[in-house]
Amino acid sequence: MSCLGIPPFDIGKLLHKISKLYGSMTIPFDNTYAQLPERFFAKQAPAHVPEPKLIRINRELAAKLSIDPDWLESVEGIDMLAGNSIAEGSEPIAQAYAGHQFGGFSAQLGDGRAILLGEIIDTDGARQDLQLKGSGRTIFSRGGDGKAALGPVIREYIVSEAMAALGVPTTRALAAVTTGEMVMRQEGPLPGGVFTRVAASHIRVGTFQYFLARNDVDALRTLADYTINRHYPDAAVLDNRYTALLDSAIAAQAKLIAHWMSLGFIHGVMNTDNTAISGETIDYGPCAFMDEFHPQKKFSSIDTGGRYAWGNQGDIGLWNLTRFAETLLPLISDDSEKAIEIAEASLERFTDLFSTEYVTRFRAKIGISPEAPTPLIQEVLDLLASQKVDFTLFFRHLTKVAAGDPPETLTALFSDKAPFEQWLAKWHSEPAPATRLVDMQAANPILIPRNHRVEQAIQGAYRNDFALFDRLVKAIANPYSEQSEYAGLETPPLPEEIVCETFCGT
Ligand code: AMP
Ligand code: MG
Repeated sequence: MSCLGIPPFDIGKLLHKISKLYGSMTIPFDNTYAQLPERFFAKQAPAHVPEPKLIRINRELAAKLSIDPDWLESVEGIDMLAGNSIAEGSEPIAQAYAGHQFGGFSAQLGDGRAILLGEIIDTDGARQDLQLKGSGRTIFSRGGDGKAALGPVIREYIVSEAMAALGVPTTRALAAVTTGEMVMRQEGPLPGGVFTRVAASHIRVGTFQYFLARNDVDALRTLADYTINRHYPDAAVLDNRYTALLDSAIAAQAKLIAHWMSLGFIHGVMNTDNTAISGETIDYGPCAFMDEFHPQKKFSSIDTGGRYAWGNQGDIGLWNLTRFAETLLPLISDDSEKAIEIAEASLERFTDLFSTEYVTRFRAKIGISPEAPTPLIQEVLDLLASQKVDFTLFFRHLTKVAAGDPPETLTALFSDKAPFEQWLAKWHSEPAPATRLVDMQAANPILIPRNHRVEQAIQGAYRNDFALFDRLVKAIANPYSEQSEYAGLETPPLPEEIVCETFCGT
């Protein structure tokens, strides 16, 4: 006791108290997928890694999941994020799914390098999956090592968080860690990482296809009922809940893909196993935002035919939804001809839904009223394509002109100015909707995670330098705001910085 009667400060005791407090941290798991029949998944604990180190925690998202961010940053939290310990209440599983990859069907894919830890109800009352990606082999790994190289972890973190900030439905990034071990890839040995993904669910078109391929109608019904309950509860009360499920997925994909395209986003691997029924963007592999606009732009090194190019994404969405519809046929009606007729009628609505979403988004981007002629949209896209104009910068400067800036900076984006000036004159002659400026500001981001910056952040990470990664993550959290400190991230790549190809990293 000190002379003032105050007990001397005991750091050891305090640390013990803190560690006890943190040690008792429980994650409020509330798992439902693990309660489905056993053929839906395989129980699988994550692999142990030698030396986990934290790269980044998404503290806001942790709080939304009622997980103490300070605990996540503690040794115990990092251990869980690396797969070295299993939190109480977690029931780790690898989910089964099939899928069409570039048009070819595989009856068995499944989580070969991902493990679902469990589900949490977030503070909005929404059920969220917590999944580790890169956490070791499962029965679905086939020839793969179940690991992730650091590059894809960094890419998914940046791009999925950017998409969330841009307002696009997407899976989220809760955390990224390094593992202290190297993984072998085509490029050679690369540092490994584990990514923690949060998703409304990981139910894919391919999950349904897995059971159709096995003629397991009971499982299809169980999965469809589970999906309706989790994502589209309104469908449960409709006459044909399975048609309503199909209609809901169609509407969600039409909205999602039009939204991607309005931001110049190219998913890169729109396989049916990478199409979430929830309508979230999922599986950020060789994805990228394009700089110079071209409708046939693609980045993925494996998409040699351009199947998943920017302008093909709507058609591919319909193709994937058609595969989904096929899985629901046995549930829609016992009479297969009738089932086909119903499903076809639903699928036929996709094109209209998609083009309405697309035109609405692009009207907002150029700030024209719903009555204005839509050719203005295509005309300007044709000019951007033929003159290799940067997509994001064009809409950013058009927004500035709408705000009263002189047009010189905008016009300077075009090498052949006359045709663009003609377009601009037509645009000026359109009556401006009262909400023009706010519509344009909300539709035209100032900042996107440019592909060369993502690539530089990845290269930095491989040198154990996460400064650009952190800077990008902070910057893209406010993509529609003027942030002078991040102005350098707005500009397109210099010729030597251009990234022509992106890789899945598998
Ligand atoms: P993706 O192309 O990332 O959508 O993955 C397609 C399939 O390959 C899924 O079944 C993945 O689980 C599997 N896969 C991808 N990378 C690996 C890996 N490193 N080890 C094992 N399986 C993998
Ligand atoms: Mg995938």
